[in-house]
Amino acid sequence: MADLPFHDKDDFEDADRGFIAKLSPAVIQAADGRVIWDNDSYDFLQGECPPTAHPSLWRQGQLCARQGLYEVAEGVYQVRGLDLSNMTLVEGERGVLVIDPLISTECAAAALRLYREHRGDRPVTGVVYTHSHADHFGGVRGVTGGGVPILAPEGFMEHAVSENVYAGPAMARRAVYMYGPALPRSPEGQIGCGLGMTTSTGTVSLIPPTTEVTRTGQEETVDGIRMVFQLTPGTEAPAEMNFLFPDRRALCLAENATHNQHNILTLRGAMVRDARAWARYLNEAVTLFADRADVAFASHHWPTWGRGGIVRFLEQQRDMYAYLHDQTLRLLNKGLTGPEIAEAMHMPPELEQAWHTHGYYGSVSHNVKAVYQRYLGWFDGNPAHLWEHPPRESAVRYVDCLGGGSAVVTFARRYIEENDLRFAAQLLNHAVFADEGNKEARDLLAEVYTRLGHGAENAVWRNFYLMGALELSDGIVPATTDVTSLDLLAALSVEQIFDSLAIRVDGPRAWHERLSIDWYLTDLGERYRTTLSNGALIQQRQPADENADLTLRLTKDQLVGLLAGKGVGSVEREGDTGALQRLVAVLDRPAPDFAIVTA
Ligand SMILES: [Zn+2]
Repeated sequence: MADLPFHDKDDFEDADRGFIAKLSPAVIQAADGRVIWDNDSYDFLQGECPPTAHPSLWRQGQLCARQGLYEVAEGVYQVRGLDLSNMTLVEGERGVLVIDPLISTECAAAALRLYREHRGDRPVTGVVYTHSHADHFGGVRGVTGGGVPILAPEGFMEHAVSENVYAGPAMARRAVYMYGPALPRSPEGQIGCGLGMTTSTGTVSLIPPTTEVTRTGQEETVDGIRMVFQLTPGTEAPAEMNFLFPDRRALCLAENATHNQHNILTLRGAMVRDARAWARYLNEAVTLFADRADVAFASHHWPTWGRGGIVRFLEQQRDMYAYLHDQTLRLLNKGLTGPEIAEAMHMPPELEQAWHTHGYYGSVSHNVKAVYQRYLGWFDGNPAHLWEHPPRESAVRYVDCLGGGSAVVTFARRYIEENDLRFAAQLLNHAVFADEGNKEARDLLAEVYTRLGHGAENAVWRNFYLMGALELSDGIVPATTDVTSLDLLAALSVEQIFDSLAIRVDGPRAWHERLSIDWYLTDLGERYRTTLSNGALIQQRQPADENADLTLRLTKDQLVGLLAGKGVGSVEREGDTGALQRLVAVLDRPAPDFAIVTA
C-alpha cells in the first residue's frame, strides 16, 4: 500500500475538468416517489479515508462520486454520476446526439434536463448505444420516444438480452452481493463498485437500433455529426464499438478502456470474456485514432486529454489485458492451477504505478482464474477434485474431523490472531455450512468477512464480503424479481423464449410426460414446434408436418405474455388443449432468495 502513487493527482484534475454544474439535490425519483438514485448519499466520501476502507478504493470512490454536467470538448458534454454509467451528448446542427442513455429512464431524463438547462432546449436527434449492456441503453425512453436514428454495433439486439436470459435469476441474486444495494452507504458500508457508485433502480427500456455498425472504418453522419467506427466484438461486451468524432477530435472508447481493471469474468456470473481480443482491439484503436483525437472518453469514469496521455492510457490498458491473458497461459502450461496463478501473478511495475490498471471492478486474482476457466474449465486435473462432496457434505465431515463446531471456532480464532483471515473464513464457512445454528461461528464469520471487506481494494470484493456478513446476521436479501420490462422481453427472439421455457422444466417431474405443441406466430408467419420428452423441451422451427397434439395461433407479444405468466386467454387453439396445461404443470420457478453464505 505504501507503493501506491498518491502523488499522482492527474485523475482528480481530469475528473473535474470542464465542470459546468451539478444536479442539486442529486436525488432522482420514479413516478411513484420511490428514490431510484441518490448520489448525495455518497457525500461522506469526500472526507479522509477511514480505517474501514482501502485507501486506493476510497480514492476511486471520491472520483466516481463526482457528479454533474461536464464539457469534454467543444460541443461534447458528459453527465456523470447520475447512474452507474455516463451519458455523453454531442451537439449537432439541429439538436443533440445522445450516447448511452444510462440504466433508467428517470435518470436519463434528469441527465438530459441538466444538460438542457445549461446548453439550451436542443431536441435529441439521434442515439448511439456503444454496447449491449443495460447500463448503456436502459434509459433510452427517458431521452426519446423513437423516430430518430439509433446506432448500435452489429449483434446488439441479440446480445442486449441474451446475456441475462438463461442464467438471469442467478445473476440477479448474485448482483445483490456485487453492487450491495442493501448495504448502508457509509465509511463502513458500500462505497461504490469501482466502475461507478451503484446501479439505479428505475424503469428499464429498450428501443431497437435503426442502424447497425457492421465493420471497422464504417462512417455515419447523424444531425451533421460525423462518426468513424471501430467494431470491437468479444471485448467487454459481445457487441461493442469505439468511434471517433473527427470534427471534434474526440474519441469514444465505449467501455473498452476505463479507469480500472475491468472484469474478464464479472463476479455476479457471466460467460468469460476474451482478454486476448480485448488487448488487440485496444491496440487497433491506437493505430486508427490516436493521431486524430485530442480527448478520449468512455461511458464510465472521466476522460483523458492529449495525444500522449491517450496513447499511454490505451497502451497500458492493452498491456494489462494482454499480460493477464498471456501470463496465465504461460503458467497454466507449467501446471499451475487457477488459485496458484492468482497468487503467483504480479503485474509489471509500470502498470502497478498507473491508477487505471488497479482492480476496483475486475481484479488480477479473479481475472486470471477467468482466463484459466476460459481455456481449461472448472477441473484442475487433480482426481481429488473430480468427485468431491458438495459444500455442506464436506463441511459436516471437516467439522467432525476437527472435533466439532466449537473446536472449529477455536481454531478460527487462532488464524484470526495470526491475521490469516482467508483461512479463518474457510474454517468458519465449514462450521456454518455444517450447522447453521452455530451462532458463535456465524458471528465470527460475519466479523471476518467485514474485516476482509474493509481491507479490499476491489469494490466488488468489498460488497461481496459485506453482503456475506449482512446476510449471516440479518438473513437473506432477495433479488428484486421485477427486472423484466416488456421492452426487454419483446427483444427476445422466439428461440430465446422457448429456450427460457425449456430451462424452467422441472426435469424429474416431467420424466414421464410426452407432448408436442405447435406455436404458429401469426405476425411472423412462422411455426415452431416444442416437444417434451424425457424431461427435455426441444424446439424445432418450421416442422415438416402438422401432427402436434395442440396448435396455438398467436402473436409474438402474446407468446411473451404467456412467458410472463399472463395465461393464454384469447389465443386460438386447435387440438388437445390439455397439452398446454400439462406443460405449464411441469414448469418450475427460479428462487430469487437462494442461500449463498449458508447451506
Ligand atoms: Zn457499463
